Amino acid sequence: MTQFAHQSWLNKLILLTCSGLFGGAVLAAGGHSHSRHNDAAHVHGVGELEVVQDGNGLFISLYSPLENVLGFERSPKTDAEKVKARRVKSLLQANGMFAFSPDAQCKRTSYKLYSEVLNPHSHGPSDDHQHHESESGHSDFRVAYEFECAEPAKLKVIDVRVFRQFPGFEKIEVQALFPKGQVGASLTPKQSTLVVQ
Ligand SMILES: [Zn+2]
Repeated sequence: MTQFAHQSWLNKLILLTCSGLFGGAVLAAGGHSHSRHNDAAHVHGVGELEVVQDGNGLFISLYSPLENVLGFERSPKTDAEKVKARRVKSLLQANGMFAFSPDAQCKRTSYKLYSEVLNPHSHGPSDDHQHHESESGHSDFRVAYEFECAEPAKLKVIDVRVFRQFPGFEKIEVQALFPKGQVGASLTPKQSTLVVQ
């Protein structure tokens, strides 16, 4: 059942991607952040969120310049920078990034971090990173979360607490696909709630 749900979710994402909604982002599971690297979309302070609700499944991906969470976009060098990088990773992985309508009973089932800087082991030898970093001077990351909601019809709001965890975010552009249709939203620290339709 899980496999089937996942498949249908992927099909919807592919449709969205083809419609241009996601700006050509490559969404396939197992894809990595290189595929999406695009300097034109790299704006400090701005992040992009993709939300798909399908059956009991809820899939959320956050794309962002590393600057928004780390304050710099290269490998940490000083002890203080290494501590900061570890703290950022644990905040991303903790359960404080999103809050859901409690009645929906959503529980996280998966978490993946794609980042050349924060998670370099998923990207080949370190020489390549250094080379890549010095070329562009900028670095993006992506985090993908999967949740399972026992009562998906009771999911009315998603509070995006990314702003609270990481004050470097000024704006998050949302593209969401809910059972009743697509929703676009532009969230800010003062308006951080996504209404499920
Ligand atoms: Zn940058």
